[in-house]
Formats: sequence, structure tokens, C-alpha cells
Amino acid sequence: MSKQYDVICVGAGSTGLPLAIRAAQSGAKVLQIEADERIGGTLHWSSGQIAAAGTRLQKQQGIEDTPDEHFRDAQHIANDQIDPTVLKLFVDNAASTIDWLMDLGFQPAAGTPVVGEAHEAYSKRRYLWGDNAAISILDALRPVHEKLVAEGKIDLMLGHRLSNLVADDSGDVKGVTVNTATGSKTYHGTSVVLACGGYAAGVDLWNEINPEIPLNSHCNPFSRGDGIKAAQQLDALVDGKEKFLCTFAGYLEDPNDPTSAEFLALSPKSRNIWEIFVDGNGKRFMTEDHQSIDYRERSLLNQRDMKMNIVFDSDILEHAAPLTLLTNEQYRSKFGNHPNFVKANTIEELAEALEVPFASLSHTIQNYNASVDSKKDKDFNKFFLIRKIANPPFYAIKATGMTVLSPAGLAVDKELRVLNNSGNIIPNLYAGGEILGFGRTSGNAFVGGLSLTPALTFGKLLGERLPR
Ligand SMILES: Cc1cc2nc3c(=O)[nH]c(=O)nc-3n(C[C@H](O)[C@H](O)[C@H](O)COP(=O)(O)OP(=O)(O)OC[C@H]3O[C@@H](n4cnc5c(N)ncnc54)[C@H](O)[C@@H]3O)c2cc1C
Repeated sequence: MSKQYDVICVGAGSTGLPLAIRAAQSGAKVLQIEADERIGGTLHWSSGQIAAAGTRLQKQQGIEDTPDEHFRDAQHIANDQIDPTVLKLFVDNAASTIDWLMDLGFQPAAGTPVVGEAHEAYSKRRYLWGDNAAISILDALRPVHEKLVAEGKIDLMLGHRLSNLVADDSGDVKGVTVNTATGSKTYHGTSVVLACGGYAAGVDLWNEINPEIPLNSHCNPFSRGDGIKAAQQLDALVDGKEKFLCTFAGYLEDPNDPTSAEFLALSPKSRNIWEIFVDGNGKRFMTEDHQSIDYRERSLLNQRDMKMNIVFDSDILEHAAPLTLLTNEQYRSKFGNHPNFVKANTIEELAEALEVPFASLSHTIQNYNASVDSKKDKDFNKFFLIRKIANPPFYAIKATGMTVLSPAGLAVDKELRVLNNSGNIIPNLYAGGEILGFGRTSGNAFVGGLSLTPALTFGKLLGERLPR
């Protein structure tokens, strides 16, 4: 007979680490299974931007803020698309999560909290991060987690991948079955928590849930949706697939691998936009340097297959900063040598390479050049009009809307118990983090910090509240 655990936590990432720590500190017998050979999950990838109202940090800086204001702000930015039950649970408990991280040694970067950065601004300064992206959070969690593992209070099983949930005849969850390098194993526990992330790296599941949205993802390769698939076998409700917004913008490093997307540096706050963006008809379709990231994301979302071409010439290549995160030399050498980095001697050749009508592209460039001459972009009101697109060779990057987060996920009640398709709880099964769907915690917009902070918060809460 295998050991009986109080809590089985599937995943050792942003949700699973606080969960295992708080559960073990509260005296529970904890099993933590993790598919990867290391802990941390998406903390190794994430920018680590988090948000909460009523934190100690805000109070120290004289910022008055409340969970209710955070709730209203978040719903405003997200067009009222966030699950109100989940949002309420989150805003009421987020400040104590950030205070706890600071108790563990997490250091907010100088100048934080701010109202906004990378996403639409809040009305209050409640948005913060550490100096080393989400690794700053992992660095705070790791020592206490390691100590609890060393003391035998958390049984951590790396390289253990959940395959199935174990349930009895009445559907009550009793444990998990996992695949390991040496075969399959079953573990039993009173409560099972799915903290194993989203599905943005699970190409098959993505195509099943979101067939209409091309996948161009940049995320933890272990975000394969295993927890969603296991819960679906117990009739779990998966919803929210329509709450998708692409990240602006990137390119596929390997055009045959939808999980190989890399970021382009296109924020007008960090780099002037010297280039123009044209659609599949060779026409401009948006203000390239619009200050609202939400506007830029939605403009691209509305393009066919979320694709656009970033067009410029040799002068711009010479004077502007690279659009990728590569070195200047690596960046330049990609043009003409990578299917998504085009180099052409004439506009006609460029149009052919981009598969857009030559007459249309040529007209677009002439119009844009006239706007540069007159210092007024009548069509789209672009602000930065410094150089024409006139000197060959001409260049283009075939860019696309990206996915860093999966929109759909498991429906839960206010205690984070997983619901089935009839709206009833699946006994003993809980879930937290991106497995709930980004749409549930952030609606159909990117609200600052509203994926990572709910993951950390719900992990901590479940660790403190689950029965033992
Ligand atoms: C590039 C990038 C930047 C981001 N920046 C931000 C940001 O600034 N702010 C923000 O709010 N959000 C951000 N996010 C999103 C946020 O970081 C994630 O949504 C959040 O960290 C997910 O936490 P999680 O616990 O659900 O998943 P994870 O942290 O990924 O943890 C899940 C764990 O489960 C493991 N696992 C998976 N399948 C199995 C299995 N079958 N069996 C056992 N273990 C399994 C995984 O290996 C992983 O360790 C970003 C995401 C990305 C990709």
C-alpha cells in the first residue's frame, strides 16, 4: 500500500511552489510531482511583473489602494471579461502574497510600484517586479522550498509527468498516475491540486481548443495542457477559449515549429518605430507607434492569421536599433538567409517575396514617403516620421501575433474546486494558475500581473486552506 498524502500538488512552478511550501508549513504531508527535471516552471520564462492592492510596499510609499479599486480597474481594462468570483478571491489575497514574498527576501525593483509598464496602466501604483524578472521570485521561494524538501516535509518527485487522475466509482478523486523514466506509478492523496500550467506549448490541444487561432507560442515547453486533459477525463468544464488576445509581436524562428516564436522589439516606449507595417494586401493598417499596447495587439489580432510585414530600407537598417533581441551582427545576417527575414533589391522583388500586390505595396510606400516629406501622416497619424523607405536594398520581417498564455482553462468555484460540465464540483480536485485559463483571471486583455500574481496567490491560498 503506497503512502497516503494530505495534498498532491501537480507542478512545481508559480502556483505549485507557494502551494507546497504553505501546505508543508501548515503540517500537511505533501507530494509534489513535476514533469521537468528542475523546479520553477514558467518562472524561468516570465517577466515576473506582479500586481496587488494594499501591499506593505504601497503603504511604505504612502499609496492608498484597496482590493475593490484593483477589482474595478482590472475589469475596466479587461472589458468586464474576468470571472468575478475568481477576481474577487484574487484581489482580496494578492497583497498578503506579495508581503509574504518580501518576507522571504523578494526585493521589488527601484521605482516600483508603478501604474503601468508593458500593458495598459492601472489608476494606482500597484505594479511591480524584481530586478531579475521572475527569477527574482523563484530565488525567494527556492531556499524555503529546498529546506522543506530536505526535512522530508515535501516529497518532491522530478521527472514525474501526470498522465491520469485516479477516481473511485462515485467520481471522487483519490490520487494521480504519473509516467517516469522507469515506468508508471500511482500515488494517493486526500486532495489533488492541478498546478501544471497552461497549454500554449501543447500543439494538439491548442488546435483542438483554439483551431481558429494560429499558434505562435513562446513559453515553457512543459505547458502542454496535461492537467486539462486529465481533468477532462473526469468531465471537467473547460471554457474561456474566446478570450484570446495576441502578444504584439514576434516571428517564428522555425517556420515549421509553432512553438518557436521569438519576440520583436516593437514598443514605441523603448525604441522609435522607423518602419511601416503592411498587411497581406500590401497596405498599412494601423498607427505603428500608437501608445496603447491594447490598440496594437487588437490591430494585429484582426489581421488574417495575425500576420503583418514590417517594411523598411537600408538606411533604416543602418540607423535604427535591431528589431530582435539578437546582436546587431546576428540580426543583419538573418536578412536573405531566413524565411521570415526578407532582403530585396527592388520594391517589386520585395512584393513578390511578401506575396503582396506590387502596385499596392509601391503605392503604400510612396504615400508614406510623402508623409515623411510633409511631416504629417494623414492616413494613420504615425508620430515618428524621420526617414523615407527609399534606398535599396529593401527589407521586411514577416511578423505575427504571439501566444505566451493560453486563454481557456478549468472552471472552478470560489474555493478553487474544479467544476464539471454540469456545474458540480469534482470532489477532492482543485486547480490554480494558468490551468484556469488566462481569460478567467485577465479577461480578453492583458491586465498587468494578472496571470503570475493569481498563480502565486492561489497556490499560497490552497496551501493554507486545503484539508489535512
Ligand atoms: C514570456 C512570458 C512572460 C510572462 N510575463 C508575465 C508577467 O510579467 N506577468 C504575469 O502576470 N504573467 C506573465 N506570464 C504568465 C505567467 O508567468 C504564467 O501564467 C504563470 O507563471 C503560470 O504559472 P503556473 O503555476 O500555472 O504554471 P508554471 O509556472 O508553468 O508551472 C507548472 C509546472 O507544472 C509542470 N508540469 C506540466 N505538466 C506536468 C505534468 N503532466 N506532470 C507534472 N508536472 C507538470 C511544469 O513543468 C511546470 O513546472 C508570462 C508568461 C511568459 C511565457
